This record gives sequence, C-alpha cells and structure tokens, in this order.
Amino acid sequence: MSAVAIKGWCPGALRPMRSGDGLVVRIRPHGGRLDAKQAAGIAALAERYGNGLIDLTSRANLQIRGVTDAGHRSLIEELSRLHLLDLDPESEARRNILVTPFWSASDDNRSLAAELEQGLAMAPPVLPTKFGFAVDCGTERALASASADIRIERGMAGELIVRADGAELGRPVTRRDAVKVALALAEWFVESGGEGGGGRMAAHIGAGAKLPDALRGHAKPARMIAVPRPGLYPQGAMVGAAFGQVTHAALTYLAKRVQGLRMMPWRMILAEGLREMPRCQGLVTQADDPILRVIACSGAPACREAYADTRELAAALAPHIADDAWLHVAGCAKGCAHSGAAVLTLVATSEGFDLIRGGSTRDAPVLHGLSAGRLIADPSVLTGGR
Ligand code: SF4
Repeated sequence: MSAVAIKGWCPGALRPMRSGDGLVVRIRPHGGRLDAKQAAGIAALAERYGNGLIDLTSRANLQIRGVTDAGHRSLIEELSRLHLLDLDPESEARRNILVTPFWSASDDNRSLAAELEQGLAMAPPVLPTKFGFAVDCGTERALASASADIRIERGMAGELIVRADGAELGRPVTRRDAVKVALALAEWFVESGGEGGGGRMAAHIGAGAKLPDALRGHAKPARMIAVPRPGLYPQGAMVGAAFGQVTHAALTYLAKRVQGLRMMPWRMILAEGLREMPRCQGLVTQADDPILRVIACSGAPACREAYADTRELAAALAPHIADDAWLHVAGCAKGCAHSGAAVLTLVATSEGFDLIRGGSTRDAPVLHGLSAGRLIADPSVLTGGR
C-alpha cells in the first residue's frame, strides 16, 4: 500500500474553513449516523460556539457556522467528548464515505462502512480530497445520484459488487473481499494517473482509463431509486432543510424524539423511528415544497466573497421553478453550494446576476447584469418566456 498522505486541502473540524460569518467547522458522522446524544450535543455547541446555524452538506456532513477563533479549541474538545473527532486532519479528510440511509441492523451496510473507514485509516492510498466512497447495498440503489468515486452496491441478481463510478458494470465480490477490492480500486486510480483527470473516477474512466482484469467486472448494478423526498419511510421520517441549513433549535427538537439521525446527501435527514412527520419551524416536511427546488449558498452578508444576498432571491423565485427543474443561486462564481450543472443557475457579480441555463457557475451565461428586482418582478426571464 502507498504511504499515508492526503492531497490538497479539505475543510473539517480540525482544519476549519474561514467564511464571512466566521469559521465553518465540518463534522463527519461515523457511518453517516448521529446518535441522539451526539445530535443534541452538536445543536448545543452550535448555539454556544457558533451562530446557531448548522449546514447539511451534499456529502452528508454537518457544518457548525459562525465559530470564533477563540471558541474553536473548546468546540473541538467538546466534539472529541462526543466521539465526533478524528486523530488528525489527514484521517478526518480521507474519511469520505456515504452510507445508504435505508440500512437495517441486519444488513451489511454499516459493517462495510466501518470496515472501509478502518481500511482508509490504516493503509490509505493517496487520494484527492474530493474522492469518496458510497456503501449502498440495499436491493435497490439509493445513492446512485450522489457523488462518489467507488461504490459498494448490489448487482441485478442481488450479489455484492464493487464498481468504479463511470463504469457501467461492477466486479462481484464476497462480503469478505468487498472492502479490499474497493481499496485496491482506489490504489489503481492513483497509480493510473486519475488525479490528473480532475481527481474523480468517472472523469478518469471517461477519459479512457482501462480497469485491470482483476478489478473489472461484468455485473450490472441493481435498479436505482429516485432521489428520496421528505415523507415517512419504514426507517423513519425524512426531512429536508431550506437551503440545507437547520437551526440549533430544530436539531434539538429532532434529537429529543429519536434514537438516531441518518445524515443523507441531498441535504436531508432521516429521523429514525418517527411515525409522524415532525412539526418544527425550519424543517421541510412536504415532498412538493417549492423550497426544495432551489439551492443557494450563504451569500451576503454571511459570506464576505458574496456580491449579493442569495437566499432571499432563491426563496422568492422558488414557487416559479417547474417541478422537474431546479435553480442554483450563487453569491459568486465559486459555487460553494453546488459545483455541478443545474437547470438554471444565477451567479451574483459586481454588475448584477448572470444567468446560465443547463450549466454550472463556471459556464458561459446567456444573460448578464440581471437585478434581483427584475427577476422577482418577471421570473419568466429565467426560462426565456418558455
Ligand atoms: S459561492 Fe461565493 S458567495 Fe457563496 S458561499 Fe461560496 S464564496 Fe461565498
């Protein structure tokens, strides 16, 4: 195995990111789950050391916002007491594992995730910071649309497979070999120059990289389900959060009612065991809530890089976005809230908003210099009147 190392920089609890509203402290729950004590603890810490707001990220992590430099050390000590901290920033950064929220105590998902976490901690290949894994071993795949580079999932016949993101077929594995093969695939990625192709597996495969025979498979992955929406599921109540952000009060409310919270990509939470949708301000509980069709970074004044307020505009435009579309509003071209393409993207600039259709914040706009007032007064501008 390669030497322990991490490329680039990835924000975490030990290495926080500075934003316009203070330090952003990212917490990666082990196995994608917080027990009730950890969830209540994070809520209390966000109130005490941060500004009370907690981001749910697209990688199923949480971020306490608005932490001061002076408060960071105490916050870290408290997180350690809650068993939410890694030994060092490198271990923390490489623990990038999504777990299907639909696991049950009797299936392999959690044990595979724990074994993978251990494997990455002990003898990790040198991976780019955004490189991640998905453990998605239900009979149907729940994480197929979530960002991951190596997937442990099921094939059409129910067999366990390991699949490189971007490859149509996966390699069948036994339960015992699954993590070993996933780590070997990660090593192959590095050794075959995957980092040069943007550091993501699908781009590497798309650029023509050929998997070696030992890692190539012939198993078609199982059916994928649509991105889950808020509602009741056998495992509990799934709730969203406007702009992927919950208050400490909403997290406390949930923590009091559950044994655990399963963190999901798509900025949602599955509250274990709830048989009724929670009623708490700030939690999105309706599957058709228009607020789920928009995404926006913190924008001004929270972020000092922002050229404009983003969330007020996104909330005002949300009811005008078609059911099958979605809008990303970014305070600047960095596009922190969403790095990929969206049906509609608005990027704030010093001269107003740029509009991009079917692209990301880095793509060429079709319209420049739109004011928030004009967009709100005439949302048809977004679609060109269509
Ligand atoms: S996209 Fe720009 S404005 Fe928005 S949070 Fe990131 S840096 Fe700040």
